[in-house]
Amino acid sequence: MLDYEIKTISVIGLGYVGIVTGTCLADMGYNVICADIDKEKIELVNKGKSPIFEPEVPKLMKRALEGNKLLATTDIQKAVVDSQLTFITVGTPTVKGKIDLTAVRSASETIGKGLAEKNSYHVVVVKSTVIPGTTERVVIPIIEKSSKKQEGVDFGVCSNPEFLREGSAVYDFRNPDRIIIGSNNEKAGDVLEAIFKPFNSTILRTDIRTAEMIKYANNAFLATKVSFINEIANICKELGVDVNKVAEGIGLDFRINPHFLRAGAGFGGSCFPKDVQALISASKGVGVNPILLNSVLEVNKNQPLKLIELAKELLGNLNDKNITVLGLSFKPNTDDMREAPSIKIISTLLGEKAKVAVYDPAAMDNAKKIFGKKIKYAPNILEAVKNADCLLIVTEWDEFKNLPLPEIKGLMRNRFIVDGRRILNPDIVKREGFKYKGIGWKE
Ligand code: NAD
Repeated sequence: MLDYEIKTISVIGLGYVGIVTGTCLADMGYNVICADIDKEKIELVNKGKSPIFEPEVPKLMKRALEGNKLLATTDIQKAVVDSQLTFITVGTPTVKGKIDLTAVRSASETIGKGLAEKNSYHVVVVKSTVIPGTTERVVIPIIEKSSKKQEGVDFGVCSNPEFLREGSAVYDFRNPDRIIIGSNNEKAGDVLEAIFKPFNSTILRTDIRTAEMIKYANNAFLATKVSFINEIANICKELGVDVNKVAEGIGLDFRINPHFLRAGAGFGGSCFPKDVQALISASKGVGVNPILLNSVLEVNKNQPLKLIELAKELLGNLNDKNITVLGLSFKPNTDDMREAPSIKIISTLLGEKAKVAVYDPAAMDNAKKIFGKKIKYAPNILEAVKNADCLLIVTEWDEFKNLPLPEIKGLMRNRFIVDGRRILNPDIVKREGFKYKGIGWKE
């Protein structure tokens, strides 16, 4: 029996992971204090407005605020004092190829200051993705120094890597494939396990380092799968084979499975590129040359440019051509453009002196921050394709799977489509009078 009851949980860092963790925990009945250094985000949350685009979050946030279960604040120290358990969900970007722990360090120090004011036990959970050894070598020593308390006695620390997917983050939080709890002392792990028990999922208990490594190995494997099928797609195209049929064929092998076998413009987002890069850097730091991981990034670096090659096969020179880009976010159902293939594609098009018009159901504001007045922002698909010489599909939003081809046909200057995500049926597209090129599509 646990002698430690959790009523109030603090969540530090209100990005995709923090917002989802906070709102879902509040929906489970916990009192949640969300804390961040970003005043604007805090004001938004307290007004019931989600600072991120994520299905279900606005609904959960509204319910939590109405039930007085959620509070957002910039007073991180007080959030720690007023809670019994704290999740660290701050960002861990890569800077010059290495993980940047500035936010983790600063959050740990503030947590320590909060713990110094408390007389009772507290659990700190590192949910941010950090290189194995970080919690033991950075987080715990900083908290111990600023709190003058001892881990394992006065407070406990766990690693609890997050596996949610942006776009279905709430579903993933509530329906995890497994929950990893890394702890070096039993009590902290037991406290965290009790919170996740209602999900009825497999809970794997490990030491802290192993939990941290599971997250990197997981993302590195998925990134490898994506680069693998993209390389196969590039070979398929030249050999006159349709990669989608190949993916279907190999995906039926239970040892492979069909997930993450969609050929396309490459992976992006806030996790895969930075996590694989950070693992490569950590690996080199301990004298291991990660040959496979380097290749995974190399394939991915070139993959967005495959769409440009296909457009050139159709148009020749791109100088002065009107190119419409459909899809800007790194994947559907999110507005996140961090490391999105669309950025490299649009930058290359502009470098080739093409005129670019774009449309995305959610990421237009983020695109404006990146490209400013260099490109045209269309309010919908039909406006975006007006007078276009070629249409590039870059993100597989549902809206693009059933393009109104007869209407589009009348609006474009040249009827060329490059399907960077292989979401259209080439036969139908051709029947409508378009020329079609796709990643890994047999000619
Ligand atoms: P994010 O960049 O969207 O948000 C990070 C937040 O932390 C920001 O709101 C920022 O203001 C805040 N912050 C920075 N320094 C702070 C400090 N000292 N104190 C309090 N708040 C501070 O990050 P994210 O995408 O939610 O990712 C968070 C972590 O979770 C990262 O380590 C990431 O790798 C990992 N992760 C992300 C995802 C994802 O899909 N986004 C999935 C799994 C794991």
